[in-house]
Amino acid sequence: MGVIGVFGCKNAAELVYYGLHALQHRGQEGCGICTTDGTDFYRERGEGLVTEIFNEKKLAKLKGEYAIGHVRYSSSNGNNNNSGLDNVQPFLFRHHTGDFSMAHNGNLVNSRQLKMSLESQGSIFQSSSDTEILAHLIKMNRRKDRIDAIGEALTMIEGAYAFLILTQDKLYVCRDKNGLRPISVGKLNGGYIVSSETCAFEAIGATFVRDVGPGEMVIFEKGKDPESILFTEEYSHNMCAMELIYFARPDSEIEGFNVHTFRKNSGKYLAKLAPVEADLVIGVPDSSISGAIGYAEESGIPYEIGLIKNKYIGRTFIQPSQELREKGVRLKLSPVRSLITGKRVVLLDDSIVRGTTCKHIVKMLKDAGAKEVHVRICCPPMRHPCFYGVDTSTYEELISSKFNVEEVRKMIEADTLFYLPEEYLLKGGNRTELCLACYNGKYPTHLYQSKPDFNIEKKF
Ligand code: AMP
Ligand code: SF4
Repeated sequence: MGVIGVFGCKNAAELVYYGLHALQHRGQEGCGICTTDGTDFYRERGEGLVTEIFNEKKLAKLKGEYAIGHVRYSSSNGNNNNSGLDNVQPFLFRHHTGDFSMAHNGNLVNSRQLKMSLESQGSIFQSSSDTEILAHLIKMNRRKDRIDAIGEALTMIEGAYAFLILTQDKLYVCRDKNGLRPISVGKLNGGYIVSSETCAFEAIGATFVRDVGPGEMVIFEKGKDPESILFTEEYSHNMCAMELIYFARPDSEIEGFNVHTFRKNSGKYLAKLAPVEADLVIGVPDSSISGAIGYAEESGIPYEIGLIKNKYIGRTFIQPSQELREKGVRLKLSPVRSLITGKRVVLLDDSIVRGTTCKHIVKMLKDAGAKEVHVRICCPPMRHPCFYGVDTSTYEELISSKFNVEEVRKMIEADTLFYLPEEYLLKGGNRTELCLACYNGKYPTHLYQSKPDFNIEKKF
């Protein structure tokens, strides 16, 4: 999921629209924009791509210089009824003390407990989204000062989040205390832009200012300099490793590090750690191209565009059923047959989740005449579910929670298979901390209701 906010810029809705377009890779299921002109709120949202939901007529209705927007993909986390228009953000809350709108990227781990407690105190929820929980927590708080009320509510929620809260005259931007989801601040024509990724700044001509830190709330108010508060003293820099590995666009800078450079470093490490004699290196588009370039550079084996992606099909992972996912893989990628026939290929992929994609690609390359396919994965085996907004919520669906590397190699029919060890993720991003829980099971938060299903016989 991705969020973007604009504060104090003319045509805020239009800027958010272009920004959402740049964040489209983060979610294709639904999107929305909510604006305010300081008096009223205006909102449009729908299920589909940004270009499908918005047109000039709709944008013209979204008045004001303040706006937030959201692109969504549904992370089920065991909950099957969180798709549909009701769950498309931004949410708009009407309240006698002032209306407000909210958008959220991430997932709370104690939402079930909080929801039950709020419902027993009289709250009624319209959606199954975590965002509504924070709205209720803020409004249940009797404190006069809104910043205090939000700060206190934030200390009650646990999990991964970047929250945008837009009131008639302010924009609050909040990041969870572990910094699991990124959010950056930029400047444009005297106004401010906040975005899940800096690639949206480029798209609308904004300049990067800084990242919002873990446990920080930044408050934008008309006529004032932005204010920053730490709503907790206990914070860490456990940003989601998958942001760097898979989610983000290569042109984004996350926490001071360029995503393409990070991925290229991963490819170089893989070439050093798992060299192989081969004729060409190819990457699975788009997220593994940088890794393949790094592997080729380090190994001296030529990089080739061996797989072509049809850009007009959404990410396979996002489609609902296994059957559709499998069809999606075939529709989405084609091999460049004349390059591949008779060659020993090194194939870089960012990750293996269920194993479906990689198995299909290896088969596709072999069907196209590849003599050997050596698979190099730019992260360690994913053995543990994610509860922070990434759609890998059970052990059952993770191939590496049930099978070891050699078993997976056989299943995907690769000649060799090697995964990048986790210390190289830290090294490649020049950092000492990252959330690596889906590889090592060390979750940076309590898990509450999200406790993994330990019944499955595991080999690790
Ligand atoms: P799978 O077929 O389930 O093994 O999917 C692996 C592919 O899905 C990888 O090549 C990634 O590009 C992509 N992927 C990895 N993590 C995610 C995620 N959380 N959401 C969507 N796609 C993902
Ligand atoms: Fe990201 Fe994995 Fe941590 Fe989830 S568990 S936040 S996917 S690193």
